[in-house]
Amino acid sequence: MRAFIHDQPVLRVVFGDGSLAELPKEADRLGLKRLLVLSTPEQQATGETAVKLLGPRAAGLCAQARMHVPIEIAQIARAESKRLQADGTVPIGGGTTTGLAKAIALELDLPSIAVPTTYAGSEMTSIYGLTQDGEKRTGRSEKVRPKAVIYDPTLTYGMPARLSATSGMNALAHCVESLYAPDTTPIIQLYACDSIRAFARALPVILKEPTNAAARSDAHYASWLAGIALDRTQMGLHHKLCHTLGGAFDLPHAELHTVILPHAAAYNRAAAPEAMRLIAASLGAEDAARGLYDLAKRSGVPLSLSEIGMKEADLEHAVDLAVKTPYPNPRPIERAALRRLLDDAYHGKPPSTGL
Ligand code: NAD
Repeated sequence: MRAFIHDQPVLRVVFGDGSLAELPKEADRLGLKRLLVLSTPEQQATGETAVKLLGPRAAGLCAQARMHVPIEIAQIARAESKRLQADGTVPIGGGTTTGLAKAIALELDLPSIAVPTTYAGSEMTSIYGLTQDGEKRTGRSEKVRPKAVIYDPTLTYGMPARLSATSGMNALAHCVESLYAPDTTPIIQLYACDSIRAFARALPVILKEPTNAAARSDAHYASWLAGIALDRTQMGLHHKLCHTLGGAFDLPHAELHTVILPHAAAYNRAAAPEAMRLIAASLGAEDAARGLYDLAKRSGVPLSLSEIGMKEADLEHAVDLAVKTPYPNPRPIERAALRRLLDDAYHGKPPSTGL
């Protein structure tokens, strides 16, 4: 029998090839007159394009966004917002850049129009993160949720193959965990399954043909749905493991999600049969965990923790950290099984059938 509470804030989305051109209209709609554009140093040129488009509505460009939002960078960007008397921000980039806009919004209440260029999904969430003294603190606040989002798939054409695939796997992880979350709803399940289907179609094509318009459009659309799934449900073992390992051992975000996801699915296989059935069917695979592993393998991305910088000697400490705080997960967290999961992930083995 169905029982659920579905509560989804309305977030305006402008989607389509070339839709970045709508940025000035979106600024006017929100009554924003002095927007600070944000980017990473690598995407400064994209930031400059946005500044040009905004014309007199642009207050300036801060091209200093850095992974995991170090507090020092947040402070620089907040000071820049004040100095330029910005009344809003335009983060144009991946989760890192959206994260910087959120850090500004958290303290200064500045609204943002997000222009995501990866598949991380942060633009749809009220989740923020800030890193201080080597520790990433995350939280939720409605203050940080963007006021509008522009998805222009042409901005993703230049995303390197490896980032395209790992970023897609990061989004798939949101979908997978939303399907077995305790607060999942029928609408979230529809979003998650359609997102998985679209990614499964698009990622192999993107790798061969990075500027394939249909595939890029499919993947960007899928990332939108995955972002909503992340925002609306409680994440389980997979996200907690990635958060813990990423923070403690300084491992790259999207790659870590890619390596862990098939093994986290294998861990939960028997405890969440309906979610696994939906994931497998959406992937067109017999088994959810194996289907995720095969998709990653076909995409030519790292499959092992050893390849992305984890040391074998740290695995036991990783287990200590992962069992420390409780979190919702269909299967209870069992120390020995978790260690087997991490061993499999460390060596890049196919997901086990007997975890
Ligand atoms: P990223 O934003 O760190 O981008 C990685 C690199 O790729 C950067 O140098 C960036 O400038 C570049 N890049 C981005 N898009 C590009 C494009 N289209 N073409 C060429 N280069 C491009 O990577 P990410 O995986 O999107 O974000 C990771 C961060 O986002 C992590 O800190 C993670 O914790 C956070 N995140 C937050 C949420 C949330 O809801 N708060 C959700 C997902 C991820």
